[in-house]
Amino acid sequence: MILWKWLLHLVFPPRCVLCNKVLDKELDLCRDCRIHAPECPISEIKRKFLDSWLALWYYEDKVPGSLMLYKFRGRRSKAQGYGRLLAMKIQEQHPEGVDVLTWIPVSRRRKLTRGYDQVQLLARVVGEQLQMKPVRLLKKVRHNPPQSGIVSPAARRANVLGVYQVTDPEKVVGKSILLLDDIITTGSTASEAARVLMTADAKQVHFAAVASARREK
Ligand SMILES: [Zn+2]
Repeated sequence: MILWKWLLHLVFPPRCVLCNKVLDKELDLCRDCRIHAPECPISEIKRKFLDSWLALWYYEDKVPGSLMLYKFRGRRSKAQGYGRLLAMKIQEQHPEGVDVLTWIPVSRRRKLTRGYDQVQLLARVVGEQLQMKPVRLLKKVRHNPPQSGIVSPAARRANVLGVYQVTDPEKVVGKSILLLDDIITTGSTASEAARVLMTADAKQVHFAAVASARREK
């Protein structure tokens, strides 16, 4: 092994993206998490304006803790594991591919306080795996309170209404678009972003996230 790679492994050994255990020969997930992670099956639940949606895991067990570290504690390296695993699931579900890969952006203010846009980072890794360069299609034009503090579905829809705009309509018209986010809860944010893209004459919008809240219907 090249010396610098060996040193890097010594100082930053690869860890399980969910439980943080140091990995030996596995990639991204330890054996235990590979077996017991709360995998989110492909669901028949319809989400408004989305042609399809998928998530890697349910937002439970070790998943919330892992995503918290990624979003709020600066653990950017987790994007690699999430991105590689998510890209595999996307390829299984969309063997025909899509025209454009994009993501749901955070507001400028949130990006400044956090230092990075965690979903853009994820999109970069997914893009590397799918050999597509992610394209920014949406911008956030209004800073809204975080959805996580709002319970009622109607209030969540109202909170995101009109917060996104298409940046470059020419890149949207007639395209099948894959939209990424980190978490899908009620689907209000994903549906609003997809609505804006469909209004700009996208052909289809598919959606993929790292985690989904469990829903009965
Ligand atoms: Zn693990």
